[in-house]
This record gives sequence, structure tokens and C-alpha cells, in this order.
Amino acid sequence: MQNNPEMTLVLSRVSADFASDEKNVPALRDITFSVRKGSFVSVFGPSGAGKSTLMSLILGLMPHTTGEIIRNFSKPAMVFQNYALFPWLSALDNVAFGLRMSGMNRKERERIAQEKLKEVGLEHLASHYPAALSGGQRQRVGLARALAISPDLLIMDEPFSNLDTITAEALKADLLKIWRTYGMTVIMVNHIVPDTIELADQIIVIGSHPGHVEKILSVDLPRPRETRSPQFFKHVDQLTEVIRTIS
Ligand code: ADP
Ligand code: MG
Repeated sequence: MQNNPEMTLVLSRVSADFASDEKNVPALRDITFSVRKGSFVSVFGPSGAGKSTLMSLILGLMPHTTGEIIRNFSKPAMVFQNYALFPWLSALDNVAFGLRMSGMNRKERERIAQEKLKEVGLEHLASHYPAALSGGQRQRVGLARALAISPDLLIMDEPFSNLDTITAEALKADLLKIWRTYGMTVIMVNHIVPDTIELADQIIVIGSHPGHVEKILSVDLPRPRETRSPQFFKHVDQLTEVIRTIS
């Protein structure tokens, strides 16, 4: 397979199994798609289909059994559904954690962490511990932590699903702003139809048993997206139709 430098990621007929003592359980089958550099890709599908497993595979945290993966990224960062913050570290220290691991001195990493907290609107809460933050604030700390390493690939696994609608809308708007500023590639696991249409250039719909690509949709609507336009609703209908065929 030829390496196209315009692609952050190429998966070609990739399969993976969950290893177990008795027998291998199929996890993902025959997955093929490409992610263009700087694009916003949404991985969409029902609960249990294998979306999180696919993220592990992309990051190389799980081996594949057949097929080929080309990874043209060097600094991936991940934002999790359940925030995954260290409860014993302040917001600032959570954001600085990855930088600490890379050996950066304290002054420099605190400067960068403070800057990233500001980018997500939390500079005034730097000394707070996760327990003293709301869900939306925790997710913003998670995002700031991801941004701190200046990622070339940002993977977000259902970042809005523990948030109420109003909080999620605000975070979504800020995320779009950050994506525009940084220009990194984003892969986001998602299960809300309008969110997906609003965010993504490309939607990979994953079906279950085992996880496979059901359909790939392109969304070529201009940005910022007009979420009440007939074109927007046309894409909502199109994705909804795909969901009907798999459920
Ligand atoms: P999603 O993120 O789409 O909700 P997951 O990728 O978390 O789905 O899981 C896909 C399927 O694989 C689920 O049915 C889940 O129970 C199963 N699964 C996840 N991890 C393992 C594992 N380590 N061993 C066996 N089965 C697993
Ligand atoms: Mg998941």
C-alpha cells in the first residue's frame, strides 16, 4: 500500500480480535477508510459496536490480525467520555501531566498548562481539583490536557455523552474554534445525529457483531454550519436512514 502524505491515517481491510484464553473473539472485521490531514472525522454507531476498540486500534494500543494500517501522525492525544483526570492533581497539574512525562521543566509546563486552561476558558480554576469541577469543566480540563502536547491527531471518544445539552453545545462550539485554530486532524466517536452532521467532514458508520464499516458518508456543507438549513436536514435524513438499516 502506498503512503499518501495527505492522509493522517489509512486502514485497509483491517481486522482485530479480543484475545482470550479459550478462543479469540472477533472485534473488528475488514475495516477500510482513510482520514485526510486536518479533517474532522466522526465515528458513529450503536453502543457496543466497537467504536472505542477502533480508537485503541488506531492508537496502536491493540494489535490487528490482518490488513494494513498507515499512521502518519506522531503526537496523538485522547479525550475520554469519563474525563479520566487524576483526582489527586489540580486542574493545572492534570493539564501539565503529559508535559511532565516528556521531561519539560516545571516552570515551562505550568506556563503551557495555564495557557491551555485559558484556551478552554478555565484559567480561573487552575488550582481546583477534579472533585470541585462540574462535568463540563472536567471535560474542558481533559481537552486542555490533550491540547498541551500540541497533538497532530486528537481522538475524542464520546466527549459530550456525560454532559447535559447546554454544556455540550458550549463545548462543541469551543471545540470547533480550537480545531480551526490548531488545524489538527480530529477523530470523534459520536452517537448523536445532528452533532455528527454539524461537526464532521466524513462519517464512518460502524455496525456490530463484529464491528464493521456499514457506510461512509461525506458532509460537504460549508462552515460554520447552518444547522437549520434544508441541506443540513438532508444530511440528517441520510444518516438516520443508514441507522435504520443497521438497527
Ligand atoms: P463501543 O465503543 O462501540 O460502545 P466497544 O469498542 O467498547 O464498543 O466494544 C465493542 C464490543 O466488544 C462490545 O460488545 C464489548 O462488550 C466487547 N469488548 C470490549 N472489550 C473487550 C475485551 N477486552 N474482550 C472481549 N470483548 C470486549
Ligand atoms: Mg465506546
